Amino acid sequence: MSERFRDVELHAPTGDQRHCRGWVQEAALRMLHNNLDPAVAENPRELVVYGGIGRAARNWECFDAIVETLKRLGDDETLLIQSGKPVGVFQTHEGAPRVLLANSNLVPEWANWDHFHELDRKGLMMYGQMTAGSWIYIGSQGIVQGTFETFAEAVRQHFDGKPRGRWLLTGGLGGMGGAQPLAASIAGLASISVEVDPSRIDKRLETGYLDCRADSLEEAFKLLDQALEKGEATSIGLLGNAAEVFPEILKGDRHPDLVTDQTSAHDPLNGYIPEGYSLEDAAALRQRDAKAYVEKSKASMANQVRAMLGFHERGIPTFDYGNNIRAMAQDAGVENAFDFKGFVPLYIRPRFCEGVGPFRWVALSGDPEDIRKTDEKVKELLPENTALMRWMDAAAERIQFQGLPSRICWVGYRERDQLGLAFNEMVRKGELKAPIVIGRDHLDSGSVASPNRETEGMADGSDAVADWPLLNAMLNTASGASWVSLHHGGGVGMGYSIHSGVVIVADGSERAHQALSRVLVNDPGTGVMRHADAGYDHARRVARERGVDLPMLNR
Ligand code: NAD
Repeated sequence: MSERFRDVELHAPTGDQRHCRGWVQEAALRMLHNNLDPAVAENPRELVVYGGIGRAARNWECFDAIVETLKRLGDDETLLIQSGKPVGVFQTHEGAPRVLLANSNLVPEWANWDHFHELDRKGLMMYGQMTAGSWIYIGSQGIVQGTFETFAEAVRQHFDGKPRGRWLLTGGLGGMGGAQPLAASIAGLASISVEVDPSRIDKRLETGYLDCRADSLEEAFKLLDQALEKGEATSIGLLGNAAEVFPEILKGDRHPDLVTDQTSAHDPLNGYIPEGYSLEDAAALRQRDAKAYVEKSKASMANQVRAMLGFHERGIPTFDYGNNIRAMAQDAGVENAFDFKGFVPLYIRPRFCEGVGPFRWVALSGDPEDIRKTDEKVKELLPENTALMRWMDAAAERIQFQGLPSRICWVGYRERDQLGLAFNEMVRKGELKAPIVIGRDHLDSGSVASPNRETEGMADGSDAVADWPLLNAMLNTASGASWVSLHHGGGVGMGYSIHSGVVIVADGSERAHQALSRVLVNDPGTGVMRHADAGYDHARRVARERGVDLPMLNR
């Protein structure tokens, strides 16, 4: 069996000296390492970055070979990665991507966890999640703004914009879920996050994402009362199993104001701990009898979802936060699991219609000062975007960097290219110490087909049409991105999603200027296109006003 565990601690190289033949290859090398920095990844010694078993490379031999290949890769060559394994280098040209990645893709009839696990055990595949296998994960900070946007919109819709005295109940404090308490606090909500693994709670406390820990529900309520009395948006991590705690809270007389969950429910074998099991007992059962584990795991999710339905029926806003827990509960017999909706149709879709999504950038220098300067540039360029300005201030004040300094901000069509080109100019003029890597989550407006998440309840019923992310990836390749990826199963698990990622490096060159001006227009442009095509008036208006060329728009 190939090496899946290595007792090693990796950090991305920093500074302005390259180890590779070009800055794009160097950027890929640094971002691969950064994905596995212990400050960024959840279990880096097993190459696991986040989201259950989302990996950066298939095994450590593949990791070594990727690093060696990136170091020798020419400016007219392209490295191909198949589910975390470097499989070929081909002659292309300077304007082509340096790396193309395909992760976890299976022919539809075989696209389920059982078949995936069989291939995974044989060493033939890895789960790439979204940004794990495409080397643009930046830790919990990468999701804070998206989570904040969601909670803030919920506060606007349900509480008339007034969060004071309200509290959120959620589950999961992992790589992405760990952003929930901080995002809730920034949105003005107190919160209780139920997490079964004490080390995850401690990690969020250390990195300033969580305010305090409680080891019993009673203790959590005591802390919550103190917070609510003072009108403070305190976040509490409660050690416990969400499948047990959610029903217990429903039975009691203290009900939350908003309910969701971000345990790794999308992966019933590796991502969710069944009720009644310690972490050790769960690991033993997983090894001994995977089928029994999945059954117990889904049965527990069913209990958690029944409690969520109970809150929903009492009129408490309850939503699925993109982990597919409703589908798992439905498999376990909860027929009405989909009675509460997902976060995209409820809160995010109007943003997708404008091509807005989780845009991010990383300072390859490793110097936080470079991010501070880019923050200033964003404020200078988009001052009229007041929500963004508020976010930039909150982010600078409250978000600790993890690994390479980076920033996330939700911007859309004809905003992203302004920022990218300005950053490239700053690199060219020597205002920044090294190039900037620009990318995004696959959870974006034009890059994903995921009927239980990003494309839930599309206006024209096209939820499961997966041509769109394929077109997105092909267009980004044709536009000259630095690396492009196509994945299956991210966010919601095998069989439920197809999505693509894109990264582009601003190294200050003229070639980068040309590529940035294509990629950062075209990529969000596909989001406007996808939503205009589905019939959203808002997207059609954006297309007309901002000149997206859609041949069928006016017919
Ligand atoms: P992760 O695997 O790093 O963390 C999951 C956490 O859930 C772990 O800390 C685990 O201990 C905890 N957990 C598991 N079972 C539990 C239980 N029964 N009770 C309480 N805690 C339990 O995953 P992540 O990166 O945090 O992602 C979480 C989920 O959210 C995934 O399904 C992912 O696909 C989804 N996700 C959603 C978004 C979004 O924007 N909505 C973005 C990324 C990921």
